[in-house]
Amino acid sequence: MALVEIKNVRKSFGDLEVLKDVSLNIEEGEIVTIIGRSGSGKSTLLRCINALEAIQAGEIQVEGQSVFPKMNGLRELRQKVGIVFQAFNLFPHLTVERNITLAPVRTKRVDKAGARALAEKVLTQVGLAEKIDAYPEQLSGGQQQRVAIARCLAMSPNLMLFDEVTSALDPELVGEVLKVMEDMARRGMTMILVTHEMGFARNVATKLVFMHQGKVWEEGPPAELFANPKTPELQSFIGSHR
Ligand code: ADP
Ligand code: MG
Repeated sequence: MALVEIKNVRKSFGDLEVLKDVSLNIEEGEIVTIIGRSGSGKSTLLRCINALEAIQAGEIQVEGQSVFPKMNGLRELRQKVGIVFQAFNLFPHLTVERNITLAPVRTKRVDKAGARALAEKVLTQVGLAEKIDAYPEQLSGGQQQRVAIARCLAMSPNLMLFDEVTSALDPELVGEVLKVMEDMARRGMTMILVTHEMGFARNVATKLVFMHQGKVWEEGPPAELFANPKTPELQSFIGSHR
């Protein structure tokens, strides 16, 4: 059974249909990058997977648990599926440690004593153990994004979703965040990323999905799609992202 099963999904905002019969399976351990022009439905698809958006038709399952049409356990779903956005969304008035441990403490995954150890562990994974007592404003954008990733890791997710997490960063800070995601990929985390980083899509991802006008236009092994795009739409997209 696939970790994520998306079957014939349709999603509209009012009269605007933004996902048109989207089907996609993601196996455990896969690193999937979703590429496509602005407005093609990439973020919406990602948000449907952890039920931040409702769909009008089709089915979504995560680890065999139904997300749509019937939702079985929103809390479990949100614990299993971490999502990181372009904006870091850290609480400015809380230290890095508190930002990371707020949810695990609240959901009783750890007690107060275990919280610091947990923060140390996930901060080490993103290379920021020394920033545990810092406040977000004392960190660079790249460091804040790595803390946002660590905050997700603290919930021990089985799946991570990343929506253009490097797009708001100064160019010199992009690499450190990509490296953290590459490390996670190497450690076996299943991940779905919307990204414009073609190097990551080409070299790290196990599957490439090209979305166009609300549809999965092409999907397959990255090397194959980059070398032999079947459609003029993907050809032109690759051409403009070299
Ligand atoms: P992408 O991430 O590929 O740029 P999105 O999934 O964000 O695309 O958006 C797909 C389409 O849905 C766009 O036309 C966008 O304007 C529209 N859209 C996204 N979110 C909303 C919303 N909350 N309300 C209305 N329209 C939306
Ligand atoms: Mg988007």
